[in-house]
Amino acid sequence: MRYQPVIGLEIHCELLTNSKVFCTCQNEFGGSENTRVCPRCSGMPGTLPLLNQGAVRLAAKAGFATNCTVNGYSSFDRKNYFYPDLPKAYQITQFEHPICTDGHIDVAGGKRIRINRIHIEEDAGKLVHDDYEGVSLADYNRCGVPLIEIVTEPDFRSAEEVQDFVTQIAQRLKYAGVCDARMEQGSLRVDVNISIMPFGSEEFGTRAEIKNLNSVKSIGRAIEYEIQRQSEILDGGGKVVQETRRYNENRDDTKPLRSKEEAHDYRYFPEPDIPPVLLSEEDIEAIRKEMPELPHERSKRYTEEYGLPADDASLLTAQKEFSDFYDEAAASEPEYRMISNLMLGEVSHLLNETGSDITEVKFSPAELAKTAKLAADGTVSKGAAKEIVSIMFKDGGDPRRIAQEHGFIMDTDASGLDEVIDKVLAENADAAEKYKNGNAKLFGFIMGQAIKACGKSANPALIKEALNKKLQ
Ligand code: ADP
Ligand code: MG
Ligand code: ZN
Repeated sequence: MRYQPVIGLEIHCELLTNSKVFCTCQNEFGGSENTRVCPRCSGMPGTLPLLNQGAVRLAAKAGFATNCTVNGYSSFDRKNYFYPDLPKAYQITQFEHPICTDGHIDVAGGKRIRINRIHIEEDAGKLVHDDYEGVSLADYNRCGVPLIEIVTEPDFRSAEEVQDFVTQIAQRLKYAGVCDARMEQGSLRVDVNISIMPFGSEEFGTRAEIKNLNSVKSIGRAIEYEIQRQSEILDGGGKVVQETRRYNENRDDTKPLRSKEEAHDYRYFPEPDIPPVLLSEEDIEAIRKEMPELPHERSKRYTEEYGLPADDASLLTAQKEFSDFYDEAAASEPEYRMISNLMLGEVSHLLNETGSDITEVKFSPAELAKTAKLAADGTVSKGAAKEIVSIMFKDGGDPRRIAQEHGFIMDTDASGLDEVIDKVLAENADAAEKYKNGNAKLFGFIMGQAIKACGKSANPALIKEALNKKLQ
């Protein structure tokens, strides 16, 4: 690749308020067409917007989640354009004075991505095109749904950086209760601005904007496609034109939506019907105090406090409820590593397999911690601990009792072991002979046979010791 990609993002996130941003209609995804509308959000003349203070708080939290300054003064503007999904023919947004400015997030590799601003705005409705009847229908349920738009500086240089950033934004906003970040439902939508320039150049190229990407995977593919497309244009001596493009998932390409020439003149002006948003230092501090520990902060704490490897810590903290469960378990028994292994291993496996969520499991964090302790202090083997988890997952129950009922408690005295080992060695005389003659790899095989012979209560440490003695 001879060109350096340069990328900046605009991310729209729907806020988790109960009602819409300027009226009292319910803010909920879906619903029969045009049932969640009122004169205000359907743009009837003479109605007045009333700002939802909950939306302001959530926007401020998005700012705290991304290291922004939350401004004491912000205000709304009208962005004028006509489109059938926007019955007022203008969108209320924050143009001159956004609520948050100057943030950043560090992506993998330690690179800092600067955030220019976060502003509040209202969503538009949805058009449903019926090609068969040859008509377009308007559903205004989404009109007036509160959004924030997060705008980054053009600091990204690869698809991977962008994907990491979007993943982190989604996680942080979910943690903070700002947005449910369901990309497939459109509650978090990413516009990618991308240009390329020769390596070593300081001067950015002309950018294309790819609208409304709805998965982290599509983001990666759309970027790769654009890098290729723009490279071919420059290689052929042509010029990239500034335009908006749409990514098509099925064809895996991007196609023009509108060019710069068709770009709107939005004739922004201050929204006369909404007074400026004033937040005192105390207001801002009160909102900041409501912020939960964020995933990257938790992840750091897990490495420092619990001594977990960074990769495990970031897997444990990806989802807040999962991480809350780990924290509670770790608080009840300090078996940090063993609990983590069970959660990332057997528990995750069972959740994936059944398509369920950690909040629905039949065992408590304390019970999982107890299971980890049984394995850590040698009462049961690690394999048995996994089986206990799987039994608790299905039916619940006390881990020690399950261990007793299923014969998982490991043998603690070696009596009787000699007999079993002798039998195993006799049955595998060939392997034993080869091992004694220097084939060290066969120890694992013999060990496996011995554990099998001892059954559920097999004590790997005792068996190993006994085998070593016999095979000398
Ligand atoms: P506009 O006001 O025309 O939308 P902005 O300066 O606000 O332009 O930038 C919009 C988005 O485009 C931002 O995310 C920014 O980082 C990104 N961007 C700006 N210039 C470039 C460029 N040359 N290449 C890639 N992205 C860019
Ligand atoms: Mg733009
Ligand atoms: Zn309404």
